[in-house]
Amino acid sequence: MNNSLKIVFYTYIIKTKGMIGMDDVILETRNLTKKYKNQYALNDVSITLKKNHIYGFIGENGAGKSTLMKILAGLIFPTSGDMTFMGETDPSAIEQKRKSVGTMIEGPYLYPGYSVRQNVELQRLLVGNPDESATDRVIELVGLSDSSKKKARKLSMGMKQRLGIAMAMVGNPRFLILDEPINGLDPKNIVTLRSMLKKINQDSDCTIFVSSHILSELYLLATDFIFIHKGSIIETLTHEQLENKCSQYILVRNNNIPETVTILEKYFPGINYKVETDDTVKIYGRSKIMTELSEHLMQAGITVSELTEKEMSLEEYFISITGGRE
Ligand code: ADP
Repeated sequence: MNNSLKIVFYTYIIKTKGMIGMDDVILETRNLTKKYKNQYALNDVSITLKKNHIYGFIGENGAGKSTLMKILAGLIFPTSGDMTFMGETDPSAIEQKRKSVGTMIEGPYLYPGYSVRQNVELQRLLVGNPDESATDRVIELVGLSDSSKKKARKLSMGMKQRLGIAMAMVGNPRFLILDEPINGLDPKNIVTLRSMLKKINQDSDCTIFVSSHILSELYLLATDFIFIHKGSIIETLTHEQLENKCSQYILVRNNNIPETVTILEKYFPGINYKVETDDTVKIYGRSKIMTELSEHLMQAGITVSELTEKEMSLEEYFISITGGRE
């Protein structure tokens, strides 16, 4: 290789190494904002979703989850900002790619007088999937084969949810957006849905973006987590990173919480803690301060009845990162 070729070649290697290749990314948003009158439903949302991952989308009611999902699905438009989907940035080119998106946002939209099969078949035609066998395949996948002739209005809540997912699936989506799909499902259906979504993700190379207020279930399903609070993305973590973060908090139980708080503020500035009750405080993400804290408490004459390291659930982690925020 001559010298100038070598330079080009090595520059290319250096530039591409360590970057997320665009080939790995299915969707990217840049500074998406959605404003309703004077209120921001979304504020400067920039996220990158990688192919074949399952993203758990977590936020309180009113945080902006449905708004973002609707923008990604092309159901509403952002006030500002843009996105790249499957390599396309131009809105009309993105529109062409929407055939590859399956959605269930704010409940399944069913034709109540039509049967399960008719609903799915209609959706197959709407999204333009020429493969006729897809209809029965997705009905089978969601476990509704025995009820395929039943009218949608006669289905239980859980069956309606599963029909909604079958309809989202019938176009062989590369990207599936599911807003609260677990709502109304009984524990058995929840387990079925989880294994179904994992199978779709693995067998069909489908990226899934799913919200749920049942965080313990999302924890079992998702490979990555995106936390939204009051319209802003406050954290994005892989499952492994979340596991590490959730691993520990310190529980302090004693008879003088106001003084304990003073000590925390004085000796550990910027520390993340939450007063739980009159006699307990939880301290997040700083398990190494145990000994030092114990000494300060002793010096202040505080009788400590408990000072232990505990595991955090996803719920507790969520509260720990949103609790103190405005
Ligand atoms: P989530 O899905 O997280 O519960 P939403 O995305 O539905 O939250 O709503 C985010 C914020 O935007 C809320 O404050 C909500 O009231 C507001 N909002 C959503 N849709 C509209 C709308 N069509 N008109 C005005 N405000 C809206």
